[in-house]
Formats: sequence, structure tokens, C-alpha cells
Amino acid sequence: MNRQMLRNLFCHYCMREATTRDHVVAKARHGVNSYFNLVPACGPCNSTRGSSPSGCSCEFCTRARWLFDMGHRRRR
Ligand SMILES: [Zn+2]
Ligand SMILES: [Zn+2]
Repeated sequence: MNRQMLRNLFCHYCMREATTRDHVVAKARHGVNSYFNLVPACGPCNSTRGSSPSGCSCEFCTRARWLFDMGHRRRR
């Protein structure tokens, strides 16, 4: 099993079994449905952390937000 598969099987926040996907940049803030903006999450974490504007500060999420900001700047 490779790292990508492991990343998709367990909750990004608490490492329990993931049942949903959480957007790093929330859809309400025009986040996209692509792999770099999605992390696996269990139900409780998705509902408690998914709506947080600051969100997770790990490397993956930080990069996802950075890519999002770059895309927005380039479009304007
Ligand atoms: Zn969780
Ligand atoms: Zn993260």
C-alpha cells in the first residue's frame, strides 16, 4: 500500500477511518473539487473542522491554500 492510498483511507485530522472528503478550501469560498483540495475525513471531523476558515496547517493543506491563492491572483 502506498502513501497516497493510506492518505485516502484515514481521516486527515484524527487518523480514524475516513468516511467523507473534506475541502481544504471550503466550497463556500470557491474551493475546487480536485485532488489537491480534498482530504479524507471522518464524519465528526468533517463537520467540526470543515467549516473552519483557518483549517489545518499541515504541509498538504498549506500548499492547497497557497495554490488556491495563486490561481485567484492569476485570474484577476
Ligand atoms: Zn477524524
Ligand atoms: Zn492538513
